[in-house]
Amino acid sequence: MIYFKEYLKPKNLQEAYEVLTSKNAKIIGGATFLKLSNQSFETAIDLIDAKLDFIRESENEIEIGAMVTLSEFEDNTIISNLYNGFLKNITENILSFQMRNLITVGGTIFPKFGFSDLITGLLVLETEVHLYKNGKIRLEDFLNTKIQKDILEKITIKKKPLAVSFKNIKNSEYDFSIINIAVSKSENEVKIAVGARPAMAVLITKDLNFFEDIDKAVESLLNKIKFSDDLRASKIYRQKVCKALLKRALREVIQ
Ligand SMILES: Cc1cc2nc3c(=O)[nH]c(=O)nc-3n(C[C@H](O)[C@H](O)[C@H](O)COP(=O)(O)OP(=O)(O)OC[C@H]3O[C@@H](n4cnc5c(N)ncnc54)[C@H](O)[C@@H]3O)c2cc1C
Repeated sequence: MIYFKEYLKPKNLQEAYEVLTSKNAKIIGGATFLKLSNQSFETAIDLIDAKLDFIRESENEIEIGAMVTLSEFEDNTIISNLYNGFLKNITENILSFQMRNLITVGGTIFPKFGFSDLITGLLVLETEVHLYKNGKIRLEDFLNTKIQKDILEKITIKKKPLAVSFKNIKNSEYDFSIINIAVSKSENEVKIAVGARPAMAVLITKDLNFFEDIDKAVESLLNKIKFSDDLRASKIYRQKVCKALLKRALREVIQ
């Protein structure tokens, strides 16, 4: 159970950040993960009134506010049409629609969950994370940077011509992925993200030429990715499944 003494709904991020840095406070997205924890805080900062539930499209990019919920990935045509539904296909397999109605983009990306399917998918697109204090940072750099007190305002995705694929495997429908992978191909570059290893997703970028022989390329890539055991799967099982999924995804985008 999580306990708070007071509950605030700031109208903007300046107000929210002041409370976050001056009190023992916690930001709330959909509270779906937070409420499973056993912690006490002085103040809950609910971002519901901070006007972060926007989805905007310009000529070059798509902006998604931190309080947009995963159900919007299905309902909103800008996101659901992006790369033939690439992101929608990822999120619609996370829990139930009722839960996706609560789960937010901020609560999914800021904690850098290793099991996250959405982070793996976003890594192979050109995604930037916009933080109130630390500013704009590429998603892959954000994942490798220690940031404690900040607020995720929005993410942006550059609109580039890409062929994309996402694959994952779970023990049961509502469980976390045992492994998840995403691949994108531009004119001469391929990006590969592997998550739920079970550690945080990693991103590898290679020239398209590297994949002339896909079987050989995958063998070489697997040597660079670290897998571990947990209660869902062993390291060896993850390696084997990753090999099969990676070959399938690469064949989809390259051939
Ligand atoms: C039972 C269960 C099963 C799940 N299965 C999957 C799965 O299979 N695949 C998958 O990808 N995900 C899965 N998830 C994770 C889910 O997709 C969300 O990532 C997670 O539940 C958090 O979403 P939330 O918006 O409720 O965040 P919260 O619980 O509200 O917050 C989570 C953390 O993020 C912080 N936070 C929230 N918003 C911001 C912000 N704007 N700025 C800074 N910090 C912020 C909070 O302080 C907290 O530390 C699962 C979650 C649950 C509870």
